Amino acid sequence: MTNHLFSLVRDGAADPAKTVIETPDGRRYAYADLIARSGAYAAALRAAGVAPGDRVAVQVEKSPEVIFLYLGAVRAGAVFLPLNTAYTPAEIGYFLGDAEPTVFVCDPGRRDALAEAAAGVRQVWTLDAAGGGSAAEAADRAADAGAAFADVPRGPEDLAAILYTSGTTGRSKGAMLTHDNLASNARTLVEYWRFTADDVLIHALPVFHTHGLFVATNTVLASGGSLLFLPRLDPKLILSLMPRATALMGVPTFYTRLLKEPGLTPEAARGMRLFVSGSAPLLAETHREWQARTGHAILERYGMTETNMSTSNPYAGDRVAGTVGFPLPGVTLRVVDPETGAALGPDAVGMIEVKGPNVFQGYWRMPEKTAAEFRADGFFITGDLGKVDGRGYVHIVGRGKDLIISGGFNVYPKEVETEIDALPGVVESAVIGLAHPDFGEAVTAVVVGGAGCPDEAGVQAALEGRLARFKCPKRVLFVDELPRNTMGKVQKNLLREAHAGLYR
Ligand code: ATP
Ligand code: MG
Repeated sequence: MTNHLFSLVRDGAADPAKTVIETPDGRRYAYADLIARSGAYAAALRAAGVAPGDRVAVQVEKSPEVIFLYLGAVRAGAVFLPLNTAYTPAEIGYFLGDAEPTVFVCDPGRRDALAEAAAGVRQVWTLDAAGGGSAAEAADRAADAGAAFADVPRGPEDLAAILYTSGTTGRSKGAMLTHDNLASNARTLVEYWRFTADDVLIHALPVFHTHGLFVATNTVLASGGSLLFLPRLDPKLILSLMPRATALMGVPTFYTRLLKEPGLTPEAARGMRLFVSGSAPLLAETHREWQARTGHAILERYGMTETNMSTSNPYAGDRVAGTVGFPLPGVTLRVVDPETGAALGPDAVGMIEVKGPNVFQGYWRMPEKTAAEFRADGFFITGDLGKVDGRGYVHIVGRGKDLIISGGFNVYPKEVETEIDALPGVVESAVIGLAHPDFGEAVTAVVVGGAGCPDEAGVQAALEGRLARFKCPKRVLFVDELPRNTMGKVQKNLLREAHAGLYR
């Protein structure tokens, strides 16, 4: 038996001399380096006592070394567990206690602050953004010891990673992902998005999240292409790299920030063949502006930590703004009545459920939560509300937890946001439900206004006649910007907390 996930990389690396990762500060690694270096990490992890199935937790700054460590953990048969760099020592303490890793790798600058949180972990290593630290030294020693690492055999059903969800709706949950959850999704995306060894992807996403670690990285590795590895979103740097690149994957914020660059022109984007967006809804307006400015239609797709990618707009067909396209090959998607579970027809809004080789095995050490999120026939209940239109395009209307019930009527925030966003002078909006003595919840709009934006009464007057009365916001609040997390997701929970007492 081979190592199922790493075989994908070995098969993708047809030319060992080919560049796989390059950084703006001039570091360059070939596929042969990636294989040697990940082997050195695998050997170091084994020497540290990491057995197949053990967890290897990391909270480190982004660098090519993290990718080698990830692949090293996979080759050692371990379960890779990356953690958001924003987590505090107290949060890290919770995750380490929950996941019980054998090795924890952290930034050298945080080693002391994390000492207490990591007290129960057998080995604590360090790794900095430049690729230095005790983890890298352990890999150096393993490399000096010689012999290439023999991959630990792992089958399709073995765990490869535990990835904590973003925590947008509550405490993050650890999604258990198998070798084949990751490998099958990468293969599907290579084909659907037509990746080849000629592709050069601008990678400016964090590598602790499914988007940057799996969607962007695995897809390129599986195709034998190259990554231009940026430490973070830097619109000017991205623009300057476009002439050398073919593809970009980003969250919607990437595109809104790039649109503010005067240098974004059809000429600048001429060599690019693909712009992908996901992790949060892309405004239809951004899609249109991008097309006008560059001549490219952004390809929006939909996925979750738990499911990898589930749907995508087509490569060749119509990329429809405001939709997330079709279920990917091998993925079955249905929209059901959240209460009864009965399947709904075209255009009816309900709960989105998915099934396929992309869907995770359950939440780490949360059997009840896992059982509650799966139907008896194996479908995963995503928690996202949406519909499938007559042409088969999937539309996400928002999260189940954001649904507003006002005076007994369901209000889908997206429908109200779309109307508000269309008003002249409105940049964007978030619609939330707040406790109200008469209505149960009151529809409330939080609006980012630009030049010429109407005031509260103006917004309310403009919506009258366009939306049923029960959908119209009882109050309209204005802010400079919406709270967003690192993945560009609007944190409606923070808005609800901040304005909880508005109607009391
Ligand atoms: P948590 O599950 O901890 O509350 P989270 O759901 O934000 O956090 P992720 O797994 O990072 O954690 O995000 C998946 C969610 O992101 C999806 O369930 C969906 O709500 C949203 N999402 C992803 N892509 C899109 C998209 N293209 N359009 C709209 N929403 C999207
Ligand atoms: Mg979620």
